[in-house]
Amino acid sequence: MPVIRCAVVGSPIRHSRSPLIHRLFAEQFGLALRYDKREVAAGGLAAVAAALAAEGLRGINVTIPLKEEAWVLATRRTARAAAARAANVLSFEADGGIEADNTDGVGVVRDLLGHGVTLAGRCILVLGAGGAARGIVPALLEAGARRLLVANRTATRAAELVREFAALGNIDMLPLDGRCDEAVDLLVNATSAGLTSMTPPPVPAGALAPGTVCYDLVYGSGETSFLRWARLQGVTIRIDGLGMLVRQAAVAFERWHGLVPTTDPVTKALRRRL
Ligand code: NAP
Repeated sequence: MPVIRCAVVGSPIRHSRSPLIHRLFAEQFGLALRYDKREVAAGGLAAVAAALAAEGLRGINVTIPLKEEAWVLATRRTARAAAARAANVLSFEADGGIEADNTDGVGVVRDLLGHGVTLAGRCILVLGAGGAARGIVPALLEAGARRLLVANRTATRAAELVREFAALGNIDMLPLDGRCDEAVDLLVNATSAGLTSMTPPPVPAGALAPGTVCYDLVYGSGETSFLRWARLQGVTIRIDGLGMLVRQAAVAFERWHGLVPTTDPVTKALRRRL
């Protein structure tokens, strides 16, 4: 059986879990897959992507700091990638084209629904306006959020994001040090605060009610700083981003191989190895 090749590119890439996730998916189908990781600094994606396509790879996952470069490089974009203006999946087409997708939004929505969290009709506050927020905001609106608030350290970036997605639903911005006029059903941390330090991002006052669900895109071996903060506020449903990571990878796997992997055992296996 010929070996199928894929890879993940970005910087830093050493700790990427993508090779393990795709290997575990491939094992579910007895697929002969070689999935590499390549350190690629900002500005280096075009040359590396061309080389990898020439080597016969089916596609690559793209991570920090290359998601916007990936979007620009693409010759075709899925609707959700077009909306996000950032891509985490590039597929190399037989005709030499490159299709960009953004699977962060579908990953977070599937993970939330998988945890039994209702999105339709709910009020959601997203902290952050970076690449990840751009992927998840349209997906949360399309999942039926009644109202979506965005709060970001740099207010102009939140304003820009709100402007871009205004046609998709009821979306507004809020200062990080502002006050919510209603408690939210779901509070999502899409900032990188807490990724390397134990300081969670600031949260607008009045956001929490007893039933608020807190979701952190960050994940790690222990409790994240945001979820620790949420626990100390009395929030009972707290979910980290490991399930999202696995589910967004599953969408890329399906795109490249036409096979739908089972995600829960892979998330559990990863959790044991964090
Ligand atoms: P990014 O484009 O660099 O954006 C970072 C965001 O965090 C910006 O909104 C930034 O605000 C904010 N921020 C950074 N430090 C902060 C601080 N100390 N206080 C308040 N806000 C702060 O990064 P990204 O690609 O959006 O990724 C964001 C996080 O999501 C990362 O931790 C990443 O690992 C995680 N992520 C997880 C998954 C998953 O599958 N679980 C997928 C994608 C991303 P400014 O605009 O003011 O700079």
